[in-house]
Amino acid sequence: MVFMQSTLRYSNIPIFIPELACPHQCVFCDQSKIIGLNLIPKPNEISKIVETNLATMDDNRIIDIAFFGGSFTGIPFELQEEYLKEAYTFIKTNRISGIRLSTRPDYIDVKRLELLKKYGVTTIELGAQSTNDSVLIKSGRGHSFKDIQNASKLILDYGFKLGLQMMIGLPEDTFETATQTANDIVELGANSTRIYPTLVIKGTALEKLYNNGIYQPLSLEDAVSWSKEILRTFEKNNITILRVGLHPSEELVDGKSLIAGPFHPSFKEMVMTEIWNEIIFENLNGAKSKNLIIKVNNKQLNYAVGYKGRNKNQLLAKGIKVKFVGDPSFGKYQIDVSNN
Ligand code: SF4
Repeated sequence: MVFMQSTLRYSNIPIFIPELACPHQCVFCDQSKIIGLNLIPKPNEISKIVETNLATMDDNRIIDIAFFGGSFTGIPFELQEEYLKEAYTFIKTNRISGIRLSTRPDYIDVKRLELLKKYGVTTIELGAQSTNDSVLIKSGRGHSFKDIQNASKLILDYGFKLGLQMMIGLPEDTFETATQTANDIVELGANSTRIYPTLVIKGTALEKLYNNGIYQPLSLEDAVSWSKEILRTFEKNNITILRVGLHPSEELVDGKSLIAGPFHPSFKEMVMTEIWNEIIFENLNGAKSKNLIIKVNNKQLNYAVGYKGRNKNQLLAKGIKVKFVGDPSFGKYQIDVSNN
């Protein structure tokens, strides 16, 4: 008898609420351009958005409604409640499992958390960006590391799942402050994270700093290499990495909004290529032949070969011809090098 194992997949129904009542001026931010959307849905439009999305989704999914794109708990209390009420009707009928939202650390308090709890919010993602106070000040964030610590603790005390997003390459950020931020995110008890390289977007304060020679973004190479270290830290601590690199919106891809910075539509693939580059070269020692078979997990195969075949080509340049083979029984970073 064959047993079919059903695998549940996770999906979000994203509802973007950009710049709604946000009084802050983070140097890097032009929300409407980053997400490529200028319209803010009204509460009475939520139901239609959710229904439209649900109609495209198969069963075997755990589905969340996700209020992203701004600081949800910064909008007027009554409006938050209107949005949440609409979303909550789908939880009551078991058509979605939870609600997640993004907000700022200084927009978290008992009153807001009580409201979120009442309407079935399950996960709160905080834009921490950095845990270094001088990076936060130079970036115009308007909150401190202490705010991140307080908010994180309160969120976990209330039984929500905690997401902490971070950025690399903010003004005054260094490899040390960025990796410290990753370690702090682990310490703060985050369940999930996102890693965003800082980009210079048209119309932001960062553009002026860049044009005046005060700010220099990370090179793509450094952004990939920093992200590699940070990603490994999160993985070692079982933190779910929801995203590495910005979503390639149309305006970023066609370059209309992007002034400078390490944007690449295949950013994550490049980071994974670096991780596999290290693993492969660490494991070549024993190999005497110039013809090798490298076996890895099949889901990691493309990363092992490398973005545009980088790892394969680097081996070739050293005179080593490799046949890469995928094996589903292998662990994520398991590797076997044998002679061909
Ligand atoms: S990043 Fe968030 S808090 Fe900062 S200006 Fe943009 S929307 Fe406001």
